[in-house]
Amino acid sequence: MTPIHYRNGELHIEDVPLSHLAEHYGTPLYVYSHAALSEAFQAFDQAFSGTDHLVCYAVKANSSLAILNLFARLGAGFDIVSGGELQRVLAAGGNPRKVVFSGVAKSAEEMRQALNAGILCFNIESEAEMERLNQVAGSVGKIAPVSLRVNPDVDPKTHPYISTGLKGNKFGVPIGDAVRLYQKAADLPNLHVTGLDCHIGSQITEISPFVDALDKVLALLDQLEAVGIPIHHLDLGGGLGIRYSDETPPPVADYAAALRAKLAGRPQKILVEPGRALVGNAGLLLTKVEFLKHGETKNFALVDAAMNDLMRPALYDAWHDIQTVKENAGATTAYEIVGPVCESGDFLGHDRQLALAAGDLLAVLSAGAYGMSMSSNYNTRPRAAEVLVVGEQAHQIRQRESVADLYRLETLLPQ
Ligand SMILES: *Cc1c(COP(=O)(O)O)cnc(C)c1O
Repeated sequence: MTPIHYRNGELHIEDVPLSHLAEHYGTPLYVYSHAALSEAFQAFDQAFSGTDHLVCYAVKANSSLAILNLFARLGAGFDIVSGGELQRVLAAGGNPRKVVFSGVAKSAEEMRQALNAGILCFNIESEAEMERLNQVAGSVGKIAPVSLRVNPDVDPKTHPYISTGLKGNKFGVPIGDAVRLYQKAADLPNLHVTGLDCHIGSQITEISPFVDALDKVLALLDQLEAVGIPIHHLDLGGGLGIRYSDETPPPVADYAAALRAKLAGRPQKILVEPGRALVGNAGLLLTKVEFLKHGETKNFALVDAAMNDLMRPALYDAWHDIQTVKENAGATTAYEIVGPVCESGDFLGHDRQLALAAGDLLAVLSAGAYGMSMSSNYNTRPRAAEVLVVGEQAHQIRQRESVADLYRLETLLPQ
């Protein structure tokens, strides 16, 4: 049985009815399934078993401490993009020696933090960053382990905002410039070249872009070996898509098998950095219908969750399945599912056939990735609480913010 399912006419997550969670914790509420999170991680880990590998969860997809801790306990490494994420990983009990640090504009302070923590690798995205890291490492008396993130110029065929491996993107160094940059890195006294990295985008639903990128990365690897620069690990990035509606992303096992076929006989340790694929379908956003409003051309369901809670529809025009918590609630009508925020872009779904009454609960599905982690306080809306369900047990893993929390750091001008 899938972790999110109807039972006795009502939507459950594992063995807990969502209506109980709404009653107990209020709405809007992010709810996650422990089983779904664990299964997703284990599917990745098992798909690479038998080869030296490390699954580095991409923290930005969902950075809640309890989720990081769950993955750490399963043996995960972590892909971070800020010093803040490093602190979260450490607070959650993650092992710094399994952390890779991506990101195009790492500050000197972030570099120092990561050097002091003793991370596995810095994924360098420019020549200027390489020079800064060499200087910072020297100033703290450390040698920084580095990979270059190369941009293989392949089209991942995904939304332009989340495609990162094309020439016109800000990410990585051009693959044609990589040998020169690796030679420079190898000559810098406070850097130690350990790996080669690439990440081409997100929500990729075909295998071919990954394979095309890997072909280019392996050609570069051979060139590097030819000039005497040994590479110990290959970091193939994240980006495997999930099913939101009718997408058919490859199963993790197929994705891994396609990569492994290309990697056969190579001694390098394999790193992957999945984010969305580990958490996306393990979470939902629970929200309550405040009012129904029947306009001249459209019907609106005004719900208590908004673009500040789940930004993906407003930002990417992303589609999330929306289900009533009550199963088969009667005759349906087409609704715009919209929140209280003062923007016409504040919607969770367009034109959804649902049977609704004021007070009903809705589950916005596939909200585990880039949901809570992208949420904001726009309109002075406290961010949602989060609950992690294990079987019959619900654990609150984040309290709902209060309004006082939101202006705690603010002060008035003196009289
Ligand atoms: C965002 C990101 C990931 C994770 O992407 P998903 O699509 O969530 O798997 C991995 N690596 C890097 C460098 C990223 O920026």
